[in-house]
Amino acid sequence: MTEDLLTIGDFARASGLSHKALRLYDDLGLLVPAYVDPASGYRFYGPGQLDRAVLVGSLRRLGMPLARIAEVVGLGPADAADAVAGWWSGVEQQTGARRDLATLLVDDLARKGTAMTAPMTAPRYTVRHATGLDAGLVRPAQQDAVHAGDPLFAVADGFGDTGAEASSAALAALAAALPDPTDASTDVVQRLREAAAAADAAVAAVVGDTGRTATAGTTLAALVRTAGGLAVVHVGDSRVYRLRDEGLFRLTRDDSLVQAMVDEGRLTPEEAWSHPQRPMLAKALVGRGTEADVRLHDARDGDRYLVCSDGLSAVLPEAVLRTTLTGAADPQAAVDALLAAVRDAGAPDNVAVVVADVVTAGGGTTGGGTGGAGLRRLC
Ligand code: MN
Repeated sequence: MTEDLLTIGDFARASGLSHKALRLYDDLGLLVPAYVDPASGYRFYGPGQLDRAVLVGSLRRLGMPLARIAEVVGLGPADAADAVAGWWSGVEQQTGARRDLATLLVDDLARKGTAMTAPMTAPRYTVRHATGLDAGLVRPAQQDAVHAGDPLFAVADGFGDTGAEASSAALAALAAALPDPTDASTDVVQRLREAAAAADAAVAAVVGDTGRTATAGTTLAALVRTAGGLAVVHVGDSRVYRLRDEGLFRLTRDDSLVQAMVDEGRLTPEEAWSHPQRPMLAKALVGRGTEADVRLHDARDGDRYLVCSDGLSAVLPEAVLRTTLTGAADPQAAVDALLAAVRDAGAPDNVAVVVADVVTAGGGTTGGGTGGAGLRRLC
């Protein structure tokens, strides 16, 4: 029965794969032995399986996720070649984005190292902003909300039958509970957590007790001017991006099921983009004590921030967000261009958006949005 077959040891030597790897690939159905001895459980492989084994091993060394390898080895050679090329170009794009992020982090840290010894004469900033709110072309009602008035620049994306009330209530409560941006003595992160808890409590008041499973609530994405810089307060899949030196960086991580799958390596970011479960949230303000993610960031002259609901970020690719934000002369022009682009793309969801620019006080900039007290560089 097994005279033409190779033992797992011989096959491992011939293919360059370990016993452990061969057992894993068998378990996953990537490389099923030609014969398994029912008595001993020993695996045997046919010589004709070597090509596939070498391909699986090579794709693993390339870093391709196992689920993707399973697809590739099921294809004919020409389609497999296309699939590998397509996947690799995605990897290079991601690597490029990570390289930019690494550069940014090195730059930020180096500045902070310098600032430790520099005199405390931090430049003062103001924030100029514009907002947009569009129900879109498909949804029967507007459940997104926007709040932009110094020191809060925020959107909320309500869902469920009282979603509109939830998003509005969350933003109003957050605005009312924020720490004084001119007071540097408070523990800003703790105060912002408390403000987010107040927003969650406000959601509880409008959604009521709807039983074991929450059916209504809201996301929250907020940029908050603080004594030390700019803070991001976040729950759900609304997002905050920062455009700096023409590079666009997302400052928030989606609390969503597909993001969790990306983190586990089960989905690539481009697969997540079009995944049918993309709108499924892992976390939201539903009035049950959800804790918001709070992060502090420095503010630099010329920074442009985008705060938006998924009606924008799930419809327009990040490359379009970047070019639109880069090309707009001021926040209002950016908001107008973003809303027009979403409508061109069918506007399948409600859209809430804030674009906010950090400008030095007395830097010669004028125009709409809020002026207000100075903004100290975080150092
Ligand atoms: Mn939405």
